[in-house]
Amino acid sequence: MAADQAALVSQVSDQDFADILAQTRTFVREVVVPREQEIADTDRIPDDIRRAAADMGLFGYAIPQKWGGLGLNLAQDVELAMEFGYTTLAFRSMFGTNNGIAGQVLVTYGTEEQKQTWLERIASGEVVASFALTEPGAGSNPAGLRTKAVRDGDRRGGTDWVIDGEKRFITNAPSADLFVVFARTRAADSDGPGIAVFLVPADTPGLEVGVKDRKMGQEGAWTSDVRFSAVRVPNSALVGGSEDVGYRAAMVSLTRGRVHIAALAVGAAQRALDESVAYAATATQGGSAIGDFQLVQAMIADQYTGVLAGRALVRDVAARYVSGEDRRVGPSAAKLYCTEMVGRVADLAVQIHGGTGYMRDVAVERIYRDVRLLRLYEGTSEIQRLIIGGQLVKQAKREATGGQR
Ligand SMILES: Cc1cc2nc3c(=O)[nH]c(=O)nc-3n(C[C@H](O)[C@H](O)[C@H](O)COP(=O)(O)OP(=O)(O)OC[C@H]3O[C@@H](n4cnc5c(N)ncnc54)[C@H](O)[C@@H]3O)c2cc1C
Repeated sequence: MAADQAALVSQVSDQDFADILAQTRTFVREVVVPREQEIADTDRIPDDIRRAAADMGLFGYAIPQKWGGLGLNLAQDVELAMEFGYTTLAFRSMFGTNNGIAGQVLVTYGTEEQKQTWLERIASGEVVASFALTEPGAGSNPAGLRTKAVRDGDRRGGTDWVIDGEKRFITNAPSADLFVVFARTRAADSDGPGIAVFLVPADTPGLEVGVKDRKMGQEGAWTSDVRFSAVRVPNSALVGGSEDVGYRAAMVSLTRGRVHIAALAVGAAQRALDESVAYAATATQGGSAIGDFQLVQAMIADQYTGVLAGRALVRDVAARYVSGEDRRVGPSAAKLYCTEMVGRVADLAVQIHGGTGYMRDVAVERIYRDVRLLRLYEGTSEIQRLIIGGQLVKQAKREATGGQR
């Protein structure tokens, strides 16, 4: 299948999409934003918000309509993501793996039978899917992962796979029903990195989810280790029915995810800006609104410029991804720029709030912590730089040798 078809083809009309976007915006701003404190304090998304998100189709907005999703393409996905970014990032995380890194592996590479078994339930939110790639010592370099899958026996005419290994920092693992697990079936060789991907139900014997990680931010979004001890799955769990699909599936899914994360960063930056402007207009020092001080205005100007540049970049990169013009360098550039940008914008937001910005229960304090993650997962900023620089040089070498390389 051509890479990532589902990210390219929109299945909704412009009018329907405008309605979905407006409904999402209203829900985020009128329902989720007022409950951010509750989410932070309880470290969970309230059940009624989860149900409402499921009813709106948010667990499957990027899954094709054939499987019960909304069928949005990546250009539409980023518009939604900019809305999600406006509130606690835990809200997006609740359905982020279903639509993104985990769901897209199945959408793009699953067999018809695998899609039939899982996708409708993923799109409805009945099933939470987690993407289990990272391991101790294999984060930025997933090709070095050590989790092993070994063919075993001949059960009822079919081969089993036995999986052993350990994953870490796996988003939604504590609530997952299905793990999309990357495991080595052979040593890397000239045919590829030897990594396959398996669909492993959470209740499979030998699969153990660790305790919830204690994180810096994004309260309400949970991660944990996942251990696999002689976890036995049938051959039908091998995604795409091929041992060679895994690494490519991870890379395609992550590349698409980078554009989404960039959009999320733009949404969070917009919120930090709005909080800053509102605060600057009302908080006073010596009888003057702090927003009257030109040095405060300069901070706001830098925030605003970052938001505008980020939004334009995300839209351009998503459009070029959909058209097929660039599905490699642009996503990394968007993630690099927008996640670094939101870090600066959130830092300025704390500065504009003065001591108030350092206090828990103030939105910009939460944003400052929440957005720090965006520069780390789905490829750190350093990895994005390596991808961008490496690809551009490779391309130039190819051109210099007349396309011989
Ligand atoms: C909250 C959270 C949620 C996550 N969710 C998931 C998930 O759902 N599924 C999943 O599989 N993973 C998940 N991750 C893992 C995440 O993708 C990794 O943490 C990330 O890719 C970085 O890998 P690492 O932690 O091993 O750090 P390392 O790779 O050890 O990086 C440490 C530092 O070294 C730098 N570095 C590493 N290699 C190079 C290099 N070749 N050149 C230059 N610099 C380099 C990095 O940029 C970084 O600055 C999550 C992580 C967190 C914190």
